[in-house]
Amino acid sequence: MLKRAAGHIHFVLWSFAGLVLLGWLLGQVAWVLVIGMGAYIIWSLVQSLRLHRWLYDWHKDRDVPESYGMWGDLFDGLHQVEHENKRIQEILRSMIERIRSSTNALKDGVIMTDAAGHMDWWNESAGRLFGFQRDKDQGQLITNLIRAPSFSHYFEEKNYAEPMEISAPKNVAQRLRFEMTLFGEDERLILIQDVSRLHRLEQMRRDFVSNVSHEMRTPLTVIRGYLEALQDSEEIPPKWKRPMRTMMQQTQRLEALIKDLMLLEKYETEEVHRQEQLVDVSKLLHSICHDAQVLSAERAHQIRLDCQHKGHLRGLESQLRSAFSNLVFNAVKYTPAQGSIEVHWWVDEQGAHLSVRDNGCGFDPVHIPRLTERFYRVDPSRDNSTGGSGLGLAIVKHVLINHGATLEIHSEVNAGSEFICHFPASRFILAEEAVQAVS
Ligand code: ADP
Repeated sequence: MLKRAAGHIHFVLWSFAGLVLLGWLLGQVAWVLVIGMGAYIIWSLVQSLRLHRWLYDWHKDRDVPESYGMWGDLFDGLHQVEHENKRIQEILRSMIERIRSSTNALKDGVIMTDAAGHMDWWNESAGRLFGFQRDKDQGQLITNLIRAPSFSHYFEEKNYAEPMEISAPKNVAQRLRFEMTLFGEDERLILIQDVSRLHRLEQMRRDFVSNVSHEMRTPLTVIRGYLEALQDSEEIPPKWKRPMRTMMQQTQRLEALIKDLMLLEKYETEEVHRQEQLVDVSKLLHSICHDAQVLSAERAHQIRLDCQHKGHLRGLESQLRSAFSNLVFNAVKYTPAQGSIEVHWWVDEQGAHLSVRDNGCGFDPVHIPRLTERFYRVDPSRDNSTGGSGLGLAIVKHVLINHGATLEIHSEVNAGSEFICHFPASRFILAEEAVQAVS
């Protein structure tokens, strides 16, 4: 490149020398120089005009002009850049085309929206599921096109850790699952799956559990009633007292199990955002810690409550009470007498947090990933004595999902455990803000 530039400088110098020589021969050095330079300036002006025209009329797809010398090199360089750009554009276009045709071939729906929620693009399946029309719906707000309130709520909340489901707008028997991902500057990629079959199976399972629970409640109440009456009776020989106490304990366990099964089933279907209240967390935790002290009774645990931030959590009090008390009561159950239990509630930029820490028996951290599964127990033989249903942490998990929160668990054998609930900042309202919100 440098060689070519030096060649151009040589050419200009030689031309200048030539003009001087010609002028000297004609005896008119000044005039020949003026005419020569003038001609060069006019030619350069013409070339720059051609360049200008090409640059600003580029959309007419005109070829780069041709020329000589320095201008020729400049135009050649531009020609090469343009050629390379066209090649890259072609590659990108064919890539986009391939992505489009492959996503169009997908059975699942795909929608892309911009940061404000306007429809940017969707594949054919999404178009079929929701009846979108390219000419009418392109650029429309997605929440205007998919009008289910739970969808709008999920879309706006930007907490996409768990998928959400709604019935298809065009066919209520069809169940659709939405999974959203934020990318770029708050743009969203939305995947929609038809989960009608799974939903039907899930519904069958729920109905089965619900029916069995209801059917078992009445016989159990009758059995417990008779057992209570018999236990108090003087006619029962003393050797029957012990077996009857065991029968009573097992009946109570079964009742607790059924109560928790029904609770879990209720929480799975309850739509929290429809009945949200402002829950006074400090008051709730005081009452739970008081109940925990009663549960501890002569085991005399040291239960300490540290509630740094007074305020309200947007959610369902019944669900939050059940989740928090499961964590605190578990700490009582799995911590030996006189052990210490610390309940700590605090708020920071990330959100609101509840930690329940004990110095009890703890467990091996390998169990953590499965701990919130129904009926999962670290040590089944040990837990039978605690009278737990094995559903406590499954209930906690469901309540937290319903409130857009997550659960963090730490534990060490014989050192203790810590369960931390993390609520998004948007759910916490400081005490004085809550007064404004209520009034
Ligand atoms: P359960 O009714 O058996 O307590 P949960 O779902 O509440 O059922 O808890 C599941 C298992 O997790 C328990 O069986 C127990 O092994 C373990 N676990 C829960 N909380 C604690 C804790 N604070 N300390 C030690 N182990 C715990």
